[in-house]
Amino acid sequence: MAKQVVARTYTASIKNQQQVQDDLDALGFAASKLWNVGRWTINRVWDEIDYIPEHDELTAYLKSHERYDDLHSQSSQRVLQELAEAFNGWYGKRRNGDQRANPPGYRKHVDDHPRSTVTFKNKGFKLDTEYNRVRLSKGSNLKEYWSDFVLCEYQTRPDVDLSTVESVQQVRAVWTGEEWELHIVCKVEVEVSEVPGEKTVGVDLGINNFAALAYEDGHSELYPLNCLKQDDYYFSKRLARCDDSDSEQANRLNQKKSARRTHYFHTLSKHIVQRCVDEGVGTIVVGDLSGIRDDEENGKAKNWGKHGNLDLHSWAFDRFTDLLTYKAEMEGISVEEVSERDTSKTCSCCGRKRDANRVERGLYVCDDCETVANADVNGAENIRQKVSPNSPSLSANRSNGWLAQPSTFLFDKETGAFAPQKQVTS
Ligand SMILES: [Zn+2]
Repeated sequence: MAKQVVARTYTASIKNQQQVQDDLDALGFAASKLWNVGRWTINRVWDEIDYIPEHDELTAYLKSHERYDDLHSQSSQRVLQELAEAFNGWYGKRRNGDQRANPPGYRKHVDDHPRSTVTFKNKGFKLDTEYNRVRLSKGSNLKEYWSDFVLCEYQTRPDVDLSTVESVQQVRAVWTGEEWELHIVCKVEVEVSEVPGEKTVGVDLGINNFAALAYEDGHSELYPLNCLKQDDYYFSKRLARCDDSDSEQANRLNQKKSARRTHYFHTLSKHIVQRCVDEGVGTIVVGDLSGIRDDEENGKAKNWGKHGNLDLHSWAFDRFTDLLTYKAEMEGISVEEVSERDTSKTCSCCGRKRDANRVERGLYVCDDCETVANADVNGAENIRQKVSPNSPSLSANRSNGWLAQPSTFLFDKETGAFAPQKQVTS
């Protein structure tokens, strides 16, 4: 066992929700408005000179804008940073040949004020762990004669003690769809196991296979989403039968659905980490998914529409990556996020890059070296190689179709665990 300082995000409920909701609504709305101003500005620059401004350029340009002073300057800066990241991600996807990728959209006023997440950094918040209160700064435009901050009384899980953490990095106010909650990002010291080995594994997260894993020795695993798809189908049918989408019954169903999803993510991340321990993996390489963030319009993820209507937002992938990182760290395994650029269009065997993917029925086919690989596994292997370059002795193994036959793990509802699928003969 060794001690290590790691990042943790703790969710806290707000006990005085009634008192602070209006203020937080105003901040969330302000963040949405600033997002839209930034969105419009980027569009104009793009139209004029074919260039997407970086976040610091955007910030410098919009600093004097009226909307910038609705929030604490660090909070405003964060909004523009997220916007620039979303744009760069979209641009990267496009360059990768993903024509389905949409640029980040406007946060629209539908029948309610859109409530964007508001981030408070060092000077923007003050945490009082003795009284479980946090003071969140407003921008100068929203300060009234006596309240230039929002005072939230928070409650964390009983096992979380914020007074013992190394430091608190930031506090985010997040609208859950029903109320505001706080995400408190901290540095904490934890006991971790010794690293199980030096090998690497690449993880490609996606919508058909939620995760594809490519190990250094050439073997690979798939984790299909079948179980979540069935769940979604089941719950949407039951929800459709509810008379009122706001009824207690509908709420219960929605809660149950999200609890099952959370359980699935926990179980899957735990299973993957255990597999890495068994395989002597010391580094998990995950594709950075910032490029596929939803445009957040009406809270719907449009980009995913094509995939069997599974209502899976890109935050599900972020959340999963967090869980995976958290569980891996405890086992001494580090998780590195790398850009997904070119990972879907490059042949992981010979390195040949093509402009358009030649993917047939989920297989990546390389005309040069005749590799036939499961497309997601090919992506995972490319992700892995970004941290640990290919060892040439494996090429032979790969080129005879090894990557086309990954082992598949299915979620077994009976046992609530992942189990290898029986070999299917077609
Ligand atoms: Zn090739």
